[in-house]
Amino acid sequence: MNIVTVIPGIEGEIDLSTGCINWRGSKLKNGYGRKWLDGKTVLVHRLVLESKITGFLESGYFACHTCDNPSCINPEHLVAGSAAENTGQMMGRDRKTPRGKSIPGSSKLSIEQLREIQTKYLSGTIKNHLAKEYGVQHETITKILQANIPNNLTTISPGFVGEIQDNGCIIFQGAKDGAGYGRYFTNGKFKSVTRAVLAQKLGYEIPTYMDACHVCDNPSCINPEHLWAGTRTQNLLDASKKGRTQGKSHPLSNAKLDWENVREIRQRLAAGERMKDLAKEYGVGWGAIHNIKYHVTWKEVGEEVPVPRMGGYLDRHLTFAQAQEVRERIKRGESIGKIARELGVSRNVISDIKNYVTYKKE
Ligand SMILES: [Zn+2]
Ligand SMILES: [Zn+2]
Repeated sequence: MNIVTVIPGIEGEIDLSTGCINWRGSKLKNGYGRKWLDGKTVLVHRLVLESKITGFLESGYFACHTCDNPSCINPEHLVAGSAAENTGQMMGRDRKTPRGKSIPGSSKLSIEQLREIQTKYLSGTIKNHLAKEYGVQHETITKILQANIPNNLTTISPGFVGEIQDNGCIIFQGAKDGAGYGRYFTNGKFKSVTRAVLAQKLGYEIPTYMDACHVCDNPSCINPEHLWAGTRTQNLLDASKKGRTQGKSHPLSNAKLDWENVREIRQRLAAGERMKDLAKEYGVGWGAIHNIKYHVTWKEVGEEVPVPRMGGYLDRHLTFAQAQEVRERIKRGESIGKIARELGVSRNVISDIKNYVTYKKE
């Protein structure tokens, strides 16, 4: 047997065909080696990696195997990575997984639940427990763990997968009709995806003489915040106005408002007032308030506004310029914890900036 010492007190058996050094002591159910040290159980490969990088791994970071062998403790096969990177490496994630609908499990579970499953598996929950908890087959769990789930995917209630765009639109990933409207098949006929999303948002189905209208002019968008119920006449009026003004204005725009109103609205939104109430008070559609909130309309000169994103930790107080600075500081070796403390934000905000979940480049 080829026993080698990896770090003082930690040894393993080298596999000459793969170069892996296998831990021979006790293991967790998922194959990670464990050791009792200073009164607690530690993961052996994590210990090895921390001694290689001479420091502790930031929370939220994992010791990942480049060899896909959980019991391997060869420092050369270990790298630090985030949860998403780790599932990818560990499960030999298929980088070519097509986007959207074909992600395994996404017809039954939300994208957010799929990410949860990947994270829980890394924290030691075994596949059988995950299958039971989420009510899916063991086989499906395996497929989910291998899936590459792009950061910008999300599930919109009642269960449609969409891709978040930098402008805030969320593009439906399933089948569409000729005009670009999403559709799904149920009880023997095709139904409109936007109507279903709007019904979910409103809590009731809109009557057939009304349309699910978009404030964003994008028929494939399923962001509930971009949808409103309009009568056929309103919708046609909307379309014709948009046509005349080349998409710059529509019935929910803000011609009634001035800069003073707009600044006041933004302050009141920041103080927690609801869009619906403000819309009523200022006599405009909620779409107008929404566009003000997200700086789609009424942009201040030279203003840098972070794009609101779902699925990431975003702190709207930071500008793009600050986010860029954060990335440079991380590159120079500063720790996430230190930067977070200095800027007075959570570590998640910083790690999402680092991983380009938020503050993506245009
Ligand atoms: Zn290995
Ligand atoms: Zn939209």
